Amino acid sequence: MQQLSQRAMKQSLHHALLLKGAKGIGKTEFAEQLGQFLLCVNKGVSAHTVAAKRHLAPCGHCQSCLLIAAGNHPDLYEIRSEKQIGVDAIREAIKKLSGSAQLSGAKILIIHDAHTMTESSANALLKTLEEPTNNTFLLLLSHQSERLLPTILSRCEKVALPSPTRQGCIDWLSAQGYSNVDDVMLRLYGTSPLELKEHLKSPPKVGYNEVVENIGYLSLGTLNAAVLATKWQDDAITIVQWLQVWLVEQLKTGPHNIDALWEMQKGCISANEQLRNPGVNKSLVLVNVLQSIAQR
Ligand SMILES: [Zn+2]
Repeated sequence: MQQLSQRAMKQSLHHALLLKGAKGIGKTEFAEQLGQFLLCVNKGVSAHTVAAKRHLAPCGHCQSCLLIAAGNHPDLYEIRSEKQIGVDAIREAIKKLSGSAQLSGAKILIIHDAHTMTESSANALLKTLEEPTNNTFLLLLSHQSERLLPTILSRCEKVALPSPTRQGCIDWLSAQGYSNVDDVMLRLYGTSPLELKEHLKSPPKVGYNEVVENIGYLSLGTLNAAVLATKWQDDAITIVQWLQVWLVEQLKTGPHNIDALWEMQKGCISANEQLRNPGVNKSLVLVNVLQSIAQR
């Protein structure tokens, strides 16, 4: 952040940045902070001392900063989409960027999950990436940057945001009020502290240990897959995730039949996809996976 801010001060910041890194490490917060800095009216003023220069940050009280805090800055545009960023969203944003800035001069477009742009969206963005209007910054965010078109990639400066270490994640969570985080949760989401925090806020109803225990009963034949599937159907996605963690654990602890485990893992991946379809019979999806595990 500091390096980028310093370059912004020297007017040498690239107009298109691709902020890439794993899910849930804070790319959005990073982009919004950088965007606020670029828009802040006082960013040069507060940096008189050497110390202040080292900690370049938005002032937090100029008109720009206040508008951002209110979620209402006229020169800050954001595009986000659950599934796909369509060409209309891009065209609309480009149109806004082509006008002059309403406030401090800079205009910012943040594109969340940029890899979800369709091909025509990406092509619509190209011209702006090549010839941006003055004082315009495009911040593209992605946890799957390999899915971006090469033409987009080649026109952006890549900024790789690092994933936290396990200890870094534990420390951060502890500062957020979550201590003694379950080891399985850390393994599952350790690279995505923000995602992990969300899961800790509303923990899954069925825990990992409960799933492992029941797999044992399934294998012994003392429990029926259909009964279990009916009981767990409301938490089917969580259950499949736990099963995947369990399969990875099996690989580590051996002895094992790699082919069989891989087949089960494939079953889980496909179950995961099916479960995202609304209206799917969750119990049926679950019973298939559980049966394959019971019969291993
Ligand atoms: Zn400010």
